[in-house]
Amino acid sequence: MSLDINTKCLHIEEDEENDCKHYGSISFPIYQTATYEHPEVGKSTGFDYSRLQNPTRKRLEKVVASLENGLDALAFSSGMAAITALMEIFKPGDHLITDADLYGGSIRLFDNINAKNGIEFTRIDCSRADIECYIKDNTKAIYIETPTNPMMRVTDIEEVAKLAKKHNLLLIVDNTFLSPYFQNPLNLGADIVIHSGTKFLGGHNDTLAGFVVTNREDISEKLRFIIKTVGSGLAPFDSWLILRGIKTLGIRMERAQENAFKIVKYLQSEPKVKNVYYPGIDGTEYYEISKRQARGFGSMLTFEVESAELAKHILKFTKLIPFAESLGGVETLLTYPCTQTHADVPENERIANGITDCVLRMSVGIEDAEDLIADLKYAIDSYDGYLGQHI
Ligand SMILES: *Cc1c(COP(=O)(O)O)cnc(C)c1O
Repeated sequence: MSLDINTKCLHIEEDEENDCKHYGSISFPIYQTATYEHPEVGKSTGFDYSRLQNPTRKRLEKVVASLENGLDALAFSSGMAAITALMEIFKPGDHLITDADLYGGSIRLFDNINAKNGIEFTRIDCSRADIECYIKDNTKAIYIETPTNPMMRVTDIEEVAKLAKKHNLLLIVDNTFLSPYFQNPLNLGADIVIHSGTKFLGGHNDTLAGFVVTNREDISEKLRFIIKTVGSGLAPFDSWLILRGIKTLGIRMERAQENAFKIVKYLQSEPKVKNVYYPGIDGTEYYEISKRQARGFGSMLTFEVESAELAKHILKFTKLIPFAESLGGVETLLTYPCTQTHADVPENERIANGITDCVLRMSVGIEDAEDLIADLKYAIDSYDGYLGQHI
């Protein structure tokens, strides 16, 4: 039986564990335990210690593996914990090609922690560059985000997967922005998928989590060894919160995307807005490839206003929409990438990527679209460019 993704958010296909256990509980229980009793020497319930595995975390991992059509998924205490653990599969002297426009925290990890451990990185615009030119003898993987954060550039996953196969490289895709609801990189040839579960999977701006998903047995084995050794697995209660979030993934993604389209339309009509970056705008650079490889365009958008002063004014004067880091929750948020998510990216690189102080990122939530537009409009209209102040 092959289930639709909306059903997979709520049910597990081969649910060998749930039927006779848990007293018929519909909500999967929180196993708030650190350790497990053994029946006798040499026998185990399958659970020994919660750093290695916990039933609630295992349930969540099964759900996420099923949403991404992966063989295995591992749940970590945050997205960064997931990426940190993944990087342990590489060794000193290995080289990775990564996208130039990545989540700032990933760049910080690569430059400050992994580089110190002897791993080399080359950052390029994977949506446009000829990646093959940058492959060296010690290159081991290509690491991309698509759409990118925050410039919403889209890379052809299938194309890069073919190149990775040809050179025997791993293709790693951070799929946080579209979530498994809209995009499944493993089906397009990627080897590993990353998620910040804090974002759309959790969906309520209330829990941190991260995932590594793979369809390769050897990588799953390595990661299982790493998670039990470094100890960054997701706690039982947090696993339960993400499980609960995932139940409504489909309706949240659809509703937020609907709102995003309406907000894009408003922003395009606003003279003080210079550019709107959203892959769902018909006729723009990434529209066709997005339609080919994803089932939707998502609810992340970035826009550039006419001045840094106006950008700061908007962040101060929206009443409904908070100025806050993060994304993918039911509440709409506005982020200022140059001082928040991308503050640690070297300035010349940040500006070369288009992330100037006039750029705002918006994670569109599930509120009423007209209320959101009215809030933005009030903040924009109340700025007097001549006086440079609130009117
Ligand atoms: C937020 C984010 C991360 C990091 O995840 P945390 O859960 O905040 O640690 C990684 N990648 C992307 C694309 C993100 O948006």
